[in-house]
Amino acid sequence: MSRFLNSSLKGLVPYTPGEQPQNKKYVKLNTNESPFPPSEKALDSIGRCELGDLRLYSDPVCRGVRERLARVLGVETENTVVTNGSDEALNFFFASFCENGVVFNDITYGFYKVFADLYSLDYTEIPLLPDFSVDVDKFIAINKNVVIANPNAPTGLALPLSVIEEIVRSNPENIVLVDEAYIDFGGESAVPLTKKYDNLLVVGTFSKSRSLAGARIGYAVGSKELISDMHAIRYSTNPYNVNRLTLKIAEAVLDDNGYYMNNCRRIIENREYATAELRRRGFSVLDSKANFIFAKSEKIPGEEYYLRLKEKGVLVRHFTNPRICEYNRITIGTKEDMDVLLSATDEIFKELSI
Ligand code: PMP
Repeated sequence: MSRFLNSSLKGLVPYTPGEQPQNKKYVKLNTNESPFPPSEKALDSIGRCELGDLRLYSDPVCRGVRERLARVLGVETENTVVTNGSDEALNFFFASFCENGVVFNDITYGFYKVFADLYSLDYTEIPLLPDFSVDVDKFIAINKNVVIANPNAPTGLALPLSVIEEIVRSNPENIVLVDEAYIDFGGESAVPLTKKYDNLLVVGTFSKSRSLAGARIGYAVGSKELISDMHAIRYSTNPYNVNRLTLKIAEAVLDDNGYYMNNCRRIIENREYATAELRRRGFSVLDSKANFIFAKSEKIPGEEYYLRLKEKGVLVRHFTNPRICEYNRITIGTKEDMDVLLSATDEIFKELSI
Protein backbone atom coordinates (compact mmCIF):
# COMPACT_ATOMS: atom_id res chain seq x y z
CA MET A 1 0.00 0.00 0.00
CA SER A 2 1.45 3.37 -0.97
CA ARG A 3 1.66 6.31 1.39
CA PHE A 4 -0.59 8.24 -1.03
CA LEU A 5 -3.81 6.23 -0.57
CA ASN A 6 -6.59 8.09 1.27
CA SER A 7 -6.26 7.44 4.98
CA SER A 8 -9.89 6.25 5.10
CA LEU A 9 -8.91 3.39 2.77
CA LYS A 10 -5.80 2.17 4.58
CA GLY A 11 -7.65 -0.78 6.12
CA LEU A 12 -9.57 -1.75 2.97
CA VAL A 13 -9.83 -5.50 2.39
CA PRO A 14 -10.63 -5.91 -1.34
CA TYR A 15 -13.08 -8.49 -2.65
CA THR A 16 -11.40 -11.79 -3.49
CA PRO A 17 -12.76 -13.17 -6.77
CA GLY A 18 -12.76 -16.91 -7.42
CA GLU A 19 -9.67 -18.32 -9.11
CA GLN A 20 -9.49 -17.87 -12.90
CA PRO A 21 -6.64 -20.26 -13.75
CA GLN A 22 -4.97 -19.33 -17.03
CA ASN A 23 -2.65 -22.31 -17.53
CA LYS A 24 -4.07 -25.59 -16.25
CA LYS A 25 -7.37 -26.89 -17.65
CA TYR A 26 -9.91 -27.56 -14.91
CA VAL A 27 -13.51 -28.64 -14.79
CA LYS A 28 -14.33 -25.19 -13.57
CA LEU A 29 -17.08 -25.23 -10.97
CA ASN A 30 -15.91 -22.29 -8.85
CA THR A 31 -17.39 -19.03 -10.15
CA ASN A 32 -20.96 -19.89 -11.20
CA GLU A 33 -20.43 -19.31 -14.90
CA SER A 34 -22.68 -21.04 -17.42
CA PRO A 35 -21.32 -24.27 -18.90
CA PHE A 36 -23.08 -23.36 -22.16
CA PRO A 37 -21.71 -20.92 -24.76
CA PRO A 38 -23.83 -18.00 -26.00
CA SER A 39 -26.39 -18.96 -28.68
CA GLU A 40 -25.42 -19.18 -32.37
CA LYS A 41 -27.13 -15.86 -33.11
CA ALA A 42 -25.15 -14.21 -30.33
CA LEU A 43 -21.87 -15.72 -31.55
CA ASP A 44 -22.62 -14.44 -35.04
CA SER A 45 -23.40 -10.92 -33.81
CA ILE A 46 -19.74 -9.91 -33.63
CA GLY A 47 -17.75 -9.82 -36.85
CA ARG A 48 -15.12 -7.66 -38.50
CA CYS A 49 -17.65 -4.88 -38.99
CA GLU A 50 -18.46 -4.66 -35.26
CA LEU A 51 -14.75 -4.84 -34.44
CA GLY A 52 -14.12 -2.02 -36.90
CA ASP A 53 -16.80 0.06 -35.18
CA LEU A 54 -14.74 -0.06 -31.99
CA ARG A 55 -13.25 3.25 -33.11
CA LEU A 56 -16.59 4.77 -32.08
CA TYR A 57 -17.84 5.19 -28.51
CA SER A 58 -20.67 2.96 -27.40
CA ASP A 59 -24.29 4.17 -27.11
CA PRO A 60 -24.37 6.00 -23.75
CA VAL A 61 -28.12 5.36 -23.48
CA CYS A 62 -27.74 1.61 -24.20
CA ARG A 63 -31.09 1.90 -26.00
CA GLY A 64 -31.04 -1.44 -27.88
CA VAL A 65 -30.28 -3.53 -24.81
CA ARG A 66 -32.65 -1.61 -22.55
CA GLU A 67 -35.59 -1.92 -24.97
CA ARG A 68 -35.09 -5.66 -25.28
CA LEU A 69 -34.49 -6.11 -21.57
CA ALA A 70 -37.69 -4.19 -20.82
CA ARG A 71 -39.58 -6.50 -23.19
CA VAL A 72 -38.12 -9.66 -21.64
CA LEU A 73 -38.76 -8.46 -18.08
CA GLY A 74 -42.18 -6.90 -18.72
CA VAL A 75 -41.30 -3.34 -17.70
CA GLU A 76 -40.74 -0.03 -19.54
CA THR A 77 -37.35 0.98 -20.97
CA GLU A 78 -37.30 3.93 -18.53
CA ASN A 79 -37.36 1.44 -15.65
CA THR A 80 -33.99 -0.04 -16.66
CA VAL A 81 -30.32 0.87 -16.43
CA VAL A 82 -27.49 -1.21 -17.90
CA THR A 83 -24.20 -1.58 -16.04
CA ASN A 84 -20.73 -3.06 -16.39
CA GLY A 85 -21.61 -6.32 -14.66
CA SER A 86 -24.17 -6.22 -11.87
CA ASP A 87 -21.24 -5.37 -9.58
CA GLU A 88 -21.37 -1.88 -11.07
CA ALA A 89 -25.09 -1.53 -10.27
CA LEU A 90 -24.28 -2.57 -6.70
CA ASN A 91 -21.40 -0.08 -6.65
CA PHE A 92 -23.70 2.77 -7.74
CA PHE A 93 -26.19 1.83 -5.04
CA PHE A 94 -23.70 1.62 -2.18
CA ALA A 95 -21.89 4.77 -3.33
CA SER A 96 -24.94 6.96 -3.75
CA PHE A 97 -27.97 5.84 -1.73
CA CYS A 98 -26.69 4.53 1.59
CA GLU A 99 -25.69 7.54 3.69
CA ASN A 100 -28.19 6.45 6.37
CA GLY A 101 -26.77 2.96 6.59
CA VAL A 102 -27.43 -0.42 5.06
CA VAL A 103 -28.25 -3.89 6.31
CA PHE A 104 -27.44 -7.29 4.80
CA ASN A 105 -26.95 -10.91 5.87
CA ASP A 106 -23.68 -12.01 7.47
CA ILE A 107 -23.33 -14.84 4.99
CA THR A 108 -24.05 -13.52 1.54
CA TYR A 109 -22.28 -12.08 -1.51
CA GLY A 110 -18.94 -10.84 -0.11
CA PHE A 111 -18.91 -7.69 -2.21
CA TYR A 112 -21.63 -5.99 -0.09
CA LYS A 113 -19.29 -5.66 2.85
CA VAL A 114 -16.43 -4.53 0.59
CA PHE A 115 -18.57 -1.72 -0.86
CA ALA A 116 -19.84 -0.75 2.60
CA ASP A 117 -16.23 -0.48 3.81
CA LEU A 118 -15.08 1.29 0.65
CA TYR A 119 -17.64 4.05 1.21
CA SER A 120 -17.24 4.07 5.03
CA LEU A 121 -20.93 3.26 5.47
CA ASP A 122 -22.67 2.44 8.70
CA TYR A 123 -23.71 -1.17 8.07
CA THR A 124 -25.16 -4.08 9.99
CA GLU A 125 -24.78 -7.74 9.17
CA ILE A 126 -27.77 -9.85 10.24
CA PRO A 127 -26.66 -13.40 11.07
CA LEU A 128 -28.36 -16.11 9.08
CA LEU A 129 -30.16 -18.62 11.34
CA PRO A 130 -28.27 -21.85 12.13
CA ASP A 131 -29.92 -23.61 9.17
CA PHE A 132 -28.67 -20.74 6.92
CA SER A 133 -32.18 -19.39 6.38
CA VAL A 134 -32.67 -15.62 6.49
CA ASP A 135 -33.82 -14.20 9.85
CA VAL A 136 -36.64 -12.39 8.07
CA ASP A 137 -38.13 -10.64 11.15
CA LYS A 138 -34.88 -8.70 11.53
CA PHE A 139 -35.45 -7.05 8.14
CA ILE A 140 -39.05 -5.99 8.80
CA ALA A 141 -39.40 -2.25 9.48
CA ILE A 142 -35.64 -1.98 10.06
CA ASN A 143 -35.66 1.59 8.79
CA LYS A 144 -32.37 1.27 6.91
CA ASN A 145 -31.60 0.35 3.32
CA VAL A 146 -31.58 -3.41 2.82
CA VAL A 147 -29.53 -5.49 0.37
CA ILE A 148 -30.68 -9.04 -0.03
CA ALA A 149 -29.47 -11.63 -2.53
CA ASN A 150 -32.35 -13.83 -3.63
CA PRO A 151 -31.47 -16.65 -4.06
CA ASN A 152 -28.71 -16.05 -1.53
CA ALA A 153 -25.09 -16.86 -2.27
CA PRO A 154 -23.29 -19.03 -1.37
CA THR A 155 -26.18 -20.96 0.23
CA GLY A 156 -28.50 -21.05 -2.81
CA LEU A 157 -31.55 -20.73 -0.53
CA ALA A 158 -34.38 -18.56 -1.89
CA LEU A 159 -37.03 -16.47 -0.14
CA PRO A 160 -40.60 -16.54 -1.48
CA LEU A 161 -41.78 -13.38 -3.19
CA SER A 162 -44.35 -12.78 -0.42
CA VAL A 163 -41.48 -12.42 2.08
CA ILE A 164 -39.54 -10.05 -0.18
CA GLU A 165 -42.72 -7.98 -0.56
CA GLU A 166 -43.20 -7.83 3.20
CA ILE A 167 -39.65 -6.50 3.63
CA VAL A 168 -40.22 -3.89 0.90
CA ARG A 169 -43.65 -2.87 2.24
CA SER A 170 -42.41 -2.50 5.82
CA ASN A 171 -39.53 -0.18 4.87
CA PRO A 172 -41.25 2.49 2.73
CA GLU A 173 -38.73 5.22 3.54
CA ASN A 174 -35.74 3.10 2.54
CA ILE A 175 -34.59 1.18 -0.50
CA VAL A 176 -34.66 -2.59 -0.60
CA LEU A 177 -32.20 -3.83 -3.21
CA VAL A 178 -32.87 -7.41 -4.29
CA ASP A 179 -29.85 -8.94 -6.00
CA GLU A 180 -31.29 -11.48 -8.45
CA ALA A 181 -28.01 -12.73 -9.97
CA TYR A 182 -29.34 -16.31 -9.72
CA ILE A 183 -33.10 -15.76 -10.17
CA ASP A 184 -33.46 -17.70 -13.42
CA PHE A 185 -32.62 -21.01 -11.76
CA GLY A 186 -35.88 -21.40 -9.85
CA GLY A 187 -36.54 -18.32 -7.69
CA GLU A 188 -39.46 -15.88 -7.99
CA SER A 189 -38.40 -12.53 -9.42
CA ALA A 190 -39.37 -9.33 -7.64
CA VAL A 191 -39.26 -7.34 -10.91
CA PRO A 192 -43.11 -7.15 -11.16
CA LEU A 193 -43.19 -5.57 -7.69
CA THR A 194 -41.16 -2.59 -8.96
CA LYS A 195 -44.45 -1.33 -10.48
CA LYS A 196 -46.07 -1.26 -7.05
CA TYR A 197 -43.21 -0.07 -4.81
CA ASP A 198 -40.96 2.90 -5.55
CA ASN A 199 -38.46 1.79 -2.90
CA LEU A 200 -37.57 -1.51 -4.60
CA LEU A 201 -34.49 -1.87 -6.80
CA VAL A 202 -33.92 -5.23 -8.48
CA VAL A 203 -30.41 -5.98 -9.78
CA GLY A 204 -29.68 -8.70 -12.34
CA THR A 205 -26.83 -9.98 -14.48
CA PHE A 206 -26.06 -11.58 -17.84
CA SER A 207 -23.13 -13.44 -16.22
CA LYS A 208 -24.93 -16.60 -15.09
CA SER A 209 -28.09 -17.61 -16.94
CA ARG A 210 -27.15 -15.66 -20.10
CA SER A 211 -23.59 -17.01 -20.59
CA LEU A 212 -21.88 -13.58 -20.71
CA ALA A 213 -19.72 -13.45 -17.56
CA GLY A 214 -16.71 -12.29 -19.57
CA ALA A 215 -18.65 -9.57 -21.40
CA ARG A 216 -19.44 -7.73 -18.12
CA ILE A 217 -23.06 -6.66 -18.33
CA GLY A 218 -25.72 -6.33 -15.65
CA TYR A 219 -28.75 -4.17 -15.00
CA ALA A 220 -31.08 -2.67 -12.44
CA VAL A 221 -34.86 -2.27 -12.58
CA GLY A 222 -36.90 0.12 -10.46
CA SER A 223 -39.16 3.15 -10.46
CA LYS A 224 -38.44 5.80 -13.10
CA GLU A 225 -37.17 8.14 -10.37
CA LEU A 226 -34.76 5.60 -8.87
CA ILE A 227 -33.50 4.58 -12.30
CA SER A 228 -33.07 8.18 -13.32
CA ASP A 229 -30.83 8.62 -10.25
CA MET A 230 -28.86 5.53 -11.28
CA HIS A 231 -28.36 7.04 -14.74
CA ALA A 232 -27.17 10.29 -13.16
CA ILE A 233 -24.56 8.35 -11.18
CA ARG A 234 -23.60 6.41 -14.30
CA TYR A 235 -23.13 9.61 -16.32
CA SER A 236 -21.10 11.04 -13.44
CA THR A 237 -18.66 8.14 -13.44
CA ASN A 238 -18.52 6.59 -16.93
CA PRO A 239 -21.22 7.34 -19.55
CA TYR A 240 -19.78 4.61 -21.80
CA ASN A 241 -19.79 2.04 -19.05
CA VAL A 242 -20.73 -0.87 -21.34
CA ASN A 243 -18.59 -1.38 -24.44
CA ARG A 244 -19.94 -1.69 -28.01
CA LEU A 245 -19.22 -5.40 -28.42
CA THR A 246 -20.97 -6.24 -25.19
CA LEU A 247 -24.03 -4.15 -26.07
CA LYS A 248 -24.18 -5.86 -29.46
CA ILE A 249 -23.95 -9.41 -28.14
CA ALA A 250 -26.33 -8.67 -25.25
CA GLU A 251 -28.98 -7.53 -27.77
CA ALA A 252 -28.61 -10.83 -29.62
CA VAL A 253 -28.78 -12.73 -26.32
CA LEU A 254 -32.06 -11.04 -25.40
CA ASP A 255 -33.46 -11.80 -28.87
CA ASP A 256 -32.73 -15.46 -28.15
CA ASN A 257 -34.20 -15.63 -24.66
CA GLY A 258 -35.69 -19.09 -25.15
CA TYR A 259 -32.25 -20.65 -25.69
CA TYR A 260 -31.02 -19.30 -22.35
CA MET A 261 -34.15 -20.24 -20.41
CA ASN A 262 -33.86 -23.74 -21.83
CA ASN A 263 -30.23 -23.89 -20.63
CA CYS A 264 -31.50 -22.89 -17.18
CA ARG A 265 -33.88 -25.88 -17.23
CA ARG A 266 -30.94 -28.16 -18.07
CA ILE A 267 -28.88 -26.67 -15.23
CA ILE A 268 -31.77 -27.16 -12.80
CA GLU A 269 -31.97 -30.84 -13.86
CA ASN A 270 -28.22 -31.24 -13.36
CA ARG A 271 -28.47 -29.51 -9.98
CA GLU A 272 -31.14 -31.94 -8.82
CA TYR A 273 -29.01 -34.85 -10.09
CA ALA A 274 -25.81 -33.63 -8.37
CA THR A 275 -27.70 -32.86 -5.15
CA ALA A 276 -29.23 -36.34 -5.01
CA GLU A 277 -25.93 -38.06 -5.86
CA LEU A 278 -23.94 -36.11 -3.26
CA ARG A 279 -26.61 -36.77 -0.62
CA ARG A 280 -26.43 -40.47 -1.51
CA ARG A 281 -22.72 -40.22 -0.67
CA GLY A 282 -23.51 -38.75 2.76
CA PHE A 283 -23.15 -35.03 1.97
CA SER A 284 -25.44 -32.40 3.46
CA VAL A 285 -26.56 -30.28 0.53
CA LEU A 286 -28.77 -27.20 0.98
CA ASP A 287 -31.88 -26.94 -1.21
CA SER A 288 -30.54 -24.65 -3.90
CA LYS A 289 -32.54 -22.48 -6.28
CA ALA A 290 -29.31 -21.24 -7.93
CA ASN A 291 -26.77 -22.59 -10.43
CA PHE A 292 -24.60 -23.88 -7.59
CA ILE A 293 -24.97 -26.07 -4.55
CA PHE A 294 -23.52 -25.66 -1.07
CA ALA A 295 -22.36 -28.98 0.31
CA LYS A 296 -20.41 -30.51 3.18
CA SER A 297 -19.49 -33.99 4.30
CA GLU A 298 -18.84 -35.11 7.88
CA LYS A 299 -16.21 -37.45 6.44
CA ILE A 300 -13.79 -34.84 5.13
CA PRO A 301 -12.97 -31.24 6.14
CA GLY A 302 -14.21 -28.66 3.62
CA GLU A 303 -10.75 -27.36 2.77
CA GLU A 304 -9.31 -30.83 2.25
CA TYR A 305 -12.15 -31.78 -0.10
CA TYR A 306 -11.55 -28.57 -2.08
CA LEU A 307 -7.78 -29.19 -2.31
CA ARG A 308 -8.12 -32.85 -3.28
CA LEU A 309 -10.70 -32.01 -5.95
CA LYS A 310 -8.34 -29.36 -7.28
CA GLU A 311 -5.51 -31.91 -7.51
CA LYS A 312 -7.84 -34.01 -9.63
CA GLY A 313 -8.61 -31.10 -11.93
CA VAL A 314 -11.98 -30.06 -10.45
CA LEU A 315 -12.16 -26.50 -9.17
CA VAL A 316 -14.86 -25.59 -6.62
CA ARG A 317 -15.14 -22.57 -4.29
CA HIS A 318 -14.04 -22.82 -0.68
CA PHE A 319 -14.57 -20.01 1.83
CA THR A 320 -12.50 -19.58 4.99
CA ASN A 321 -15.22 -17.87 7.07
CA PRO A 322 -15.50 -20.18 10.14
CA ARG A 323 -19.31 -20.44 9.84
CA ILE A 324 -19.06 -22.00 6.39
CA CYS A 325 -15.54 -23.40 6.10
CA GLU A 326 -16.75 -27.01 6.18
CA TYR A 327 -18.77 -26.34 3.03
CA ASN A 328 -17.84 -25.94 -0.59
CA ARG A 329 -19.84 -24.09 -3.22
CA ILE A 330 -20.05 -26.16 -6.38
CA THR A 331 -21.21 -24.57 -9.64
CA ILE A 332 -23.60 -26.68 -11.65
CA GLY A 333 -22.16 -27.53 -15.04
CA THR A 334 -23.15 -30.03 -17.70
CA LYS A 335 -24.23 -33.56 -16.71
CA GLU A 336 -20.71 -34.66 -17.76
CA ASP A 337 -19.13 -32.04 -15.46
CA MET A 338 -21.25 -33.33 -12.58
CA ASP A 339 -20.17 -36.90 -13.32
CA VAL A 340 -16.50 -35.82 -13.23
CA LEU A 341 -17.12 -34.21 -9.83
CA LEU A 342 -18.85 -37.34 -8.52
CA SER A 343 -16.15 -39.70 -9.80
CA ALA A 344 -13.41 -37.49 -8.31
CA THR A 345 -15.33 -37.53 -5.01
CA ASP A 346 -15.57 -41.33 -5.10
CA GLU A 347 -11.82 -41.58 -5.79
CA ILE A 348 -11.01 -39.23 -2.90
CA PHE A 349 -13.18 -41.24 -0.51
CA LYS A 350 -11.55 -44.47 -1.73
CA GLU A 351 -8.00 -43.07 -1.30
CA LEU A 352 -8.86 -42.01 2.24
CA SER A 353 -10.75 -45.27 2.95
CA ILE A 354 -13.79 -43.30 4.12
N1 PMP B 1 -24.43 -10.72 -7.09
C1 PMP B 1 -24.16 -11.96 -6.69
C2 PMP B 1 -24.99 -12.57 -5.60
C3 PMP B 1 -23.11 -12.68 -7.27
O1 PMP B 1 -22.81 -13.91 -6.84
C4 PMP B 1 -22.36 -12.09 -8.30
C5 PMP B 1 -21.25 -12.87 -8.99
N2 PMP B 1 -20.02 -12.79 -8.42
C6 PMP B 1 -22.66 -10.78 -8.66
C7 PMP B 1 -23.73 -10.13 -8.06
C8 PMP B 1 -21.87 -10.02 -9.69
O2 PMP B 1 -21.95 -10.57 -10.94
P1 PMP B 1 -21.54 -9.73 -12.25
O3 PMP B 1 -20.80 -8.50 -11.82
O4 PMP B 1 -20.74 -10.67 -13.03
O5 PMP B 1 -22.86 -9.37 -12.89
